[in-house]
Amino acid sequence: ATSFDVLIIGGGAAGCSAAASLRKRRPDLSIAIVEPSDKHYYQPAWTLVGGGAFDRAKTERPMASAIPKGVRWIRAAAAGFEPDRNLVVLEDGGRLAYRTLIVAPGITLRWEAIEGLRETLGRNGVTSNYLFDLAPYTWQLVQGLKKGRALFTQPPMPIKCAGAPQKAMYLSCDHWHRTGVLKTIEVELNNAGQVLFGVGTFVPPLMKYVEKYGAHLAFNSTLKAIDGEKREAYFEVKAADGTVSRVTKGFDMIHVVPPQTAPDFIRQSPFADAAGWVDVDQETLRHRRYGNVFSLGDASSAPNAKTAAAVRKQAPVVAENIIAVLDGKSPRAIYDGYGSCPLTVEKGKVVLAEFGYGGKLLPTFPLDPAVPRRSAWFLKADLLPTLYWDVMLKGREWLARPTMLPHEPQPREEDPSLDD
Ligand code: FAD
Repeated sequence: ATSFDVLIIGGGAAGCSAAASLRKRRPDLSIAIVEPSDKHYYQPAWTLVGGGAFDRAKTERPMASAIPKGVRWIRAAAAGFEPDRNLVVLEDGGRLAYRTLIVAPGITLRWEAIEGLRETLGRNGVTSNYLFDLAPYTWQLVQGLKKGRALFTQPPMPIKCAGAPQKAMYLSCDHWHRTGVLKTIEVELNNAGQVLFGVGTFVPPLMKYVEKYGAHLAFNSTLKAIDGEKREAYFEVKAADGTVSRVTKGFDMIHVVPPQTAPDFIRQSPFADAAGWVDVDQETLRHRRYGNVFSLGDASSAPNAKTAAAVRKQAPVVAENIIAVLDGKSPRAIYDGYGSCPLTVEKGKVVLAEFGYGGKLLPTFPLDPAVPRRSAWFLKADLLPTLYWDVMLKGREWLARPTMLPHEPQPREEDPSLDD
């Protein structure tokens, strides 16, 4: 099998950023990315597309332009791993060999977990900003709705961009508010969880908007099935005493966020933890059992907010640590769990939630992070897309230098030795 110094599974935000960071550090490494899609997406802007505030075409670019120069693109899908032989198995049965491996195939949207959803997605008022194809349909529905009931759903965690389900609600409400129809629209967020947002600091400013828009919050309410023709959604609702009931709610429009898991080929692989994610040390991002394997992005087990913002800080850490391993040293770069969720509470204002492991606040700017700001909207809608394509995907690590441990930690006994 063809062999690479670094083989990367997935050419999304994580795979391409890690490749770019590696190239910056050591241009002579042989690096390949296994990626089946010929398109690369800037998904964070889909929330804005659904709110009529961003051009969808700007969220899609040819994969060939996202993969860093000098990195080989293998247009195929990975199907499995033979880590004891340092091999990746492709869907077509081919095999690739590696000295080090980065596993970054993202997260899988489980549309099929909600009965009847697939059949009606994109019709009958059923939409989701989680798809490139459907984000414009959200905006179409929002503009068309003048009265009735609008439902928004949030599945059990973890999902990518945990704030996105409520961002869709705020931007819709903002439009209805501005056009004077909000008072004739009943708005409800059905949340499988028990809190509006996982980091407490950000709940009060969000609650102000929930109240301003008159939205109802239904907690412990999980979407289970949907009948598009009848315009009915079926929820499993857990009461305080633990009893579970099925509740039917009619809708004029519904914005659905599906449950999400690691991809099947990861869940079934030797790399998976009990929950199916690639089982890495949350600081070094190195696999807990296979010392020459790393993971970042949505597929990794690290308990950060699954965001492109997290990837921005993870990529340099993985690049440093991969090079250490290739040089026969132990990883010294440490990731602090940084992730960010720019909460679009109205068109023109964002609450910029930035936090690390344990909900520790990690603001980039010396401003009260709980205040909705115009500057943060500008960051989200104008600056971040440019930073993504021209800085992060190019391996320029502005404000993303990893923390380095001063000394090498003791090598772990189970470290497998590398090929050469
Ligand atoms: P992805 O970027 O999804 O890339 C995964 C890649 O792996 C894909 O190219 C895929 O084709 C490839 N792949 C899949 N299977 C295989 C296989 N078998 N073999 C090889 N390759 C494979 N983040 C923020 O920072 N801020 C936000 O405001 C924000 N908002 C969001 C709003 C929405 C609606 C959505 C959907 C996402 C949002 N995100 C946001 C999250 C962000 O997009 C992801 O966290 C980020 O893209 C994760 O990068 P990744 O590389 O792990 O996954």
